[in-house]
Amino acid sequence: MLFALVVLGLAVEGPFDYTVPADLSKKIKVGARVWINFRNQRMLGYVVKLAKKSKIKHLKPILELLDHTPLLDKNALLLAKQVSEYYCCSWGEAIEAVLPGALRKGRKVAGLIPNGDCPEIDSPWIGNKKAELPSATLIHDLDGQDRWGIYLEQIKKTLNSKKSVIIILPDISAVLNAREIIKTKIDAPVGILYRKEPNELEEWLRIKSIGTIVVVGTRSSVFAPVKKLGLVIIDEEHDSVYKQEQTPHYNAREVAFMRSRIEKARLILGSTAPSLEYLNLAKKNNLRYTFIPRGRDFPEIKTIDVKFERRGAKKKNIILSKYLEDSIASNLDSGGKTLLFLNRRGFATYAFCHNCGMALECPRCNINLAFHFEDSVLNCRYCNFKMQAPKICPNCSSGYIKFAGAGIERIESELSRIFAQAKIKRIDFRGNLNLKDADIFVATSTIIKEVNCNFDLVGILGIDNSLNRIDFRSAEKTFALLLGLLRLSRKKIIIQTSLPKHNCLQALLTKNIDIFYEKELSQRRELRFPPFRHLIFVKLRGKREERVREASFNLFKELNRVNKSRDIKIISLNPGQPSKLRDNFYWQLLVSADSAKRATKFLKINLKNFPHSGIIVTVDVDPV
Ligand SMILES: [Zn+2]
Ligand SMILES: [Zn+2]
Repeated sequence: MLFALVVLGLAVEGPFDYTVPADLSKKIKVGARVWINFRNQRMLGYVVKLAKKSKIKHLKPILELLDHTPLLDKNALLLAKQVSEYYCCSWGEAIEAVLPGALRKGRKVAGLIPNGDCPEIDSPWIGNKKAELPSATLIHDLDGQDRWGIYLEQIKKTLNSKKSVIIILPDISAVLNAREIIKTKIDAPVGILYRKEPNELEEWLRIKSIGTIVVVGTRSSVFAPVKKLGLVIIDEEHDSVYKQEQTPHYNAREVAFMRSRIEKARLILGSTAPSLEYLNLAKKNNLRYTFIPRGRDFPEIKTIDVKFERRGAKKKNIILSKYLEDSIASNLDSGGKTLLFLNRRGFATYAFCHNCGMALECPRCNINLAFHFEDSVLNCRYCNFKMQAPKICPNCSSGYIKFAGAGIERIESELSRIFAQAKIKRIDFRGNLNLKDADIFVATSTIIKEVNCNFDLVGILGIDNSLNRIDFRSAEKTFALLLGLLRLSRKKIIIQTSLPKHNCLQALLTKNIDIFYEKELSQRRELRFPPFRHLIFVKLRGKREERVREASFNLFKELNRVNKSRDIKIISLNPGQPSKLRDNFYWQLLVSADSAKRATKFLKINLKNFPHSGIIVTVDVDPV
């Protein structure tokens, strides 16, 4: 008798034992998909092991075998297993992250041949001892384009040794751009992978069938089914888009690390503003670090302390300082291009009643609605709820609705008032930038990803909001924005801030980027924050506020009671940020640990036994 151990794409651990009918026993392989009966439903499962014995009696049989050659090879199964052990999801959920949508739904295809074996791995970046790492390089490239020279050289070298390459980029336009570079410079088959690509399955199968190939794609392409992987490149490794928002909450960068370890491939991480996790690894000599300085002179960088500006001005809240206004005027006179950066869409970040003080909130989320001037619409940036801005306060019926917190639409209208003769353009979305279109551009962070554009003058507004966010990564994220803007600027940067002494700004003003990394790392070390420890969110959500709160308090108490590990700390319990989102109420527990794997194991065991009907519990390891 043959038994198959099967996992499912559900939040249940498994594997579950099934009997293999005699007619399938010669055909079934590890890595194949099967139809099974699970909790009285016909469901898709993945065979992770075959056995001659089972301890369980009265097993159900496999209903149908979908793949006569397995879809997942040994390496892919192992990678999925490591993802599940690190990111606190089931093995089956991790397998579903590997596969294109059509295969998760049970479409039949022809499969491939398994190969290889490998050791276990925990977090790549925790611990002081020199971890056994794959051969990895971090390229810190201030100008953002020079690293492609290194990429191309390494891609050629890899292809020459008959191995494949995966290049992972933050978004689709970066992917398409990279494909063009590869196609003109490299003579090899190129594959494209991103979720929602119309021919995702066909492309996935084509990649699986080719010997050596260069795959270019977004986050999920880290699982591309290439044979003989020789090199993984992950560009802009610090970008938070590599973290998946849904379960499993994996980060493609860490998965790339796991995968290159399993398949003994090399790993190259490139970035304009490296993450502290990887910069710290570089500082410990755990990976090779290549710094490519700015290939041209630094622009002149100046901070304007808005505290003093406010005192001098008659108006309470100035948007443009006198100095910035004058600099824009003289840049216009000399025919230069100006960029004004403010990372807030819309006209105003909130609307409120001047009479009773009530702010207009999203009915589904605990969030102020932003105001868009052109269509006079109030909009929720979380759930995209929209409503016409009321003329009369819904609370007190007065007619004094005010708008506050300037967004880029407001900057745009302010600029057209001051510089009536200038051509002004707002950049809200990726891909609508053409330098010929205007003299002054007003943009949010989408501008950071633009290539081949440079501005003579860059004015940075509202950076304090970014620095003051309640997030231990706020300085790191702000610094990445600033380095992105530095890359786009030619002659001069003016930063309006009330925090000119902040490390982020001091590092720029002194043109010594490393100041920021040194200081931020030493603070993180002191506070025991990443990269010196892992943080994990256990999130609870539900429709009834009181029940979510109660369940969260119970879980917090229970986890603290059962926790016997000195490594794992259940630190705090707080309402989510925001506390209400899309009609669900959120609470979250913060856990820290040196070993993400150990913490995941602890959470899996204890969440399984935690009664919580009507409440959904999710775990986010290494939140970004
Ligand atoms: Zn009112
Ligand atoms: Zn909303």
